[in-house]
Amino acid sequence: MQYANSVIDLIGNTPLVRLSRTLDLPETASDGPLVLAKVEYLNPGGSVKDRIATRMIEAAEASGELQPGGTIVEPTSGNTGVGLAMVAQQKGYKCVFVCPDKVSVDKRNVLKAYGAEVVVCPTAVAPEHPDSYYNVSDRLASQPGAWKPNQYANPHNPRSHYETTGPEIWEQTEGKITHFVCGMGTGGTISGVGRYLKEQNPDIQVIGADPAGSVYSGGTGRPYLVEGVGEDFWPDTYDRTVADRVIEVSDADSFAFTRRLAREEALLVGGSCGMAAWAARQVAHELAAEGRTDAVVVVLLPDSGRGYLTKIFNDDWLAQYGFASGAQADQRTVGEV
Ligand code: PMP
Repeated sequence: MQYANSVIDLIGNTPLVRLSRTLDLPETASDGPLVLAKVEYLNPGGSVKDRIATRMIEAAEASGELQPGGTIVEPTSGNTGVGLAMVAQQKGYKCVFVCPDKVSVDKRNVLKAYGAEVVVCPTAVAPEHPDSYYNVSDRLASQPGAWKPNQYANPHNPRSHYETTGPEIWEQTEGKITHFVCGMGTGGTISGVGRYLKEQNPDIQVIGADPAGSVYSGGTGRPYLVEGVGEDFWPDTYDRTVADRVIEVSDADSFAFTRRLAREEALLVGGSCGMAAWAARQVAHELAAEGRTDAVVVVLLPDSGRGYLTKIFNDDWLAQYGFASGAQADQRTVGEV
């Protein structure tokens, strides 16, 4: 019989799938470059963050920071929370999550469904404000039995990608990867994967994708709507030496491309995936123009589109922010059917 003892054992080993129609490459590029998406929504908690959740919890158990019956407290935009809630539930810990109000209600309800508690904080306050989600989580984490994984500073965040995501990509591409494209929130994914890949082959180009306005692409932290990526500060988990280049992507391009991925590649993924894949498409066009048919570009897609059905996949929500919804399927009213 083939089965896992717990969903925890199903984390990682996500597949690569070729992107085709959305790349819009010229006919001359039919032999390459090859663009492959690493589909992280196939993790049991639905995102790349399952990987860091297991690794951070196991490390805290080993160091004694997390004791039996303890409470995990974390400020999270949802995905890290799901990973932590899933692993914590299986291991018998309580969870309290603190998240900004821009996080979709769908995402918050997922955390509650796993049995976690959710505290919502205003986005429109500075990080040093007592109601900021950083400060609220610090107060909760100072209570007895509480442990804060702190994904923005925990070395086991990038390490989990150095030990799992990076080696998977290297093996799946049989060492042929030439470019790695990835969005950056905590920077854990790009730092861990990028370091591992460059150790295997220093010629591999590591390319960050960043929302316009975020510090990673030279912005001041000006607000943007894409969730889970971009920062207004430099997290400890981000290794500034690893990215060879950062491509800035607008919310409009991120959302339009997220919708194209669903409609043309049948990949129902989140907005940060559209952002990263848009940057990968740009890289592929540059490579095609240089005749680099040998190039193998891997882009990491962190989560599923299910959490954004009322936002990115909702025409009214897009229109409210002045974004075009792109080509629509024909809609008929009941009377017309
Ligand atoms: N996309 C989404 C949807 C995320 O939740 C995150 C994590 N904040 C990222 C991308 C970025 O990953 P990382 O924190 O490893 O940079």
